[in-house]
Amino acid sequence: MNSKTIQKCIICGNKKLRVLFKIKNAPFSVSKLLDRDQLAKDKKQPLTLKICDTCKLSQLAGNLLPSGFYNDYQMSFSYSRMIQTYQQRLAEDFIRYFKLNGKSAFEIGCGDGMFASFLNRKGLKTVGIEPSVPLYNLARKKVKALNQYFNKRAPLKKKHYDAFVSRQVFEHVDDPNKILQDAKEFLKPAGVGLIEVPSFSTIASFNRYYDICRDHRSYYTPVTLQYLLATNNFQVIKIFHTAHNEYITAYFKNNEYHQQELKSFFARYAGYRQSIKKLLTKYKGKKIAVWGAGGKGVTFLSICDIRPEDILFVIDSDTHKGNKYTTGSHILVKTPAAVEFNSIDLIIIAAVMFQEEIIKDLIGRYKYKNKIAVLSPYPHIL
Ligand SMILES: [Zn+2]
Repeated sequence: MNSKTIQKCIICGNKKLRVLFKIKNAPFSVSKLLDRDQLAKDKKQPLTLKICDTCKLSQLAGNLLPSGFYNDYQMSFSYSRMIQTYQQRLAEDFIRYFKLNGKSAFEIGCGDGMFASFLNRKGLKTVGIEPSVPLYNLARKKVKALNQYFNKRAPLKKKHYDAFVSRQVFEHVDDPNKILQDAKEFLKPAGVGLIEVPSFSTIASFNRYYDICRDHRSYYTPVTLQYLLATNNFQVIKIFHTAHNEYITAYFKNNEYHQQELKSFFARYAGYRQSIKKLLTKYKGKKIAVWGAGGKGVTFLSICDIRPEDILFVIDSDTHKGNKYTTGSHILVKTPAAVEFNSIDLIIIAAVMFQEEIIKDLIGRYKYKNKIAVLSPYPHIL
């Protein structure tokens, strides 16, 4: 934490923040109670809440808590039976939802280690990271824990973990984007996550002015939490209110896997075209037709450079397409009525979406007895 006046939105960087609310007499912090000899020094604090009109995040402006504040942080809710039951159910649901049994996770800001210990008990092996010494000392009795602020230099294995969780942390931090980016260093490309924060929607709806305090750097609604996650390339699976609407919880997935998938999708293109050539070579001199003169069929014929001399014609049930020619590849289209099916040796189905229906019709309705090929994932004969 730093004490300089913050002008930029902590999520989107927008410099024009609008004042939402001012409180003159807030406590210094809500996490620690004082000894008698500390009273003389303790003073009430002004507090200004601003909103970013771009990403909608509400956040404190100025008079932030001093750096190192969390070194001896003591906030812990785990004394309550209600919270223990809640954490236990959340741990169970998260593991069941993403099938995380037998997998591994890390928790950013594990507090006294209660949630991590529930995750462990339910089969998700979890290491906790906690900057506060008193809380770390409680956590390490229950789970494997590290005593430090979380960042990308944390002694965790890179791209190793199936999941990460962080409860009641993001509302405290100055740079939520950095934490999410650093979490990606340790998370698998298809790893998943859980973030829980207090609900600003609930605070606003129920006149909960007493929920606004200096310990909370920002206030999330489902919309702003979604924005934060999407901005950092996480795919949000669901965001829902939990703990009697006290919190909002997000389940999400690392979207890095999609980039990897895209990379190999384009890398496989040449091989895919090659496999079509192979199929056509295998049936050279035989009679081949393609079924489907829709978008996929026309594109398939064109990008695989299938020529009029390679196949007989294209079949399509749409009577408007009969006797026309495909764009790019210039192949004649015939309707089924104009086709003598059993004179064809191989029908390649390019109308991928209707594949099953077409196969049924070929066999049942048109009594077709020769070979059928489909296109995905690679062209192959059934
Ligand atoms: Zn913003």
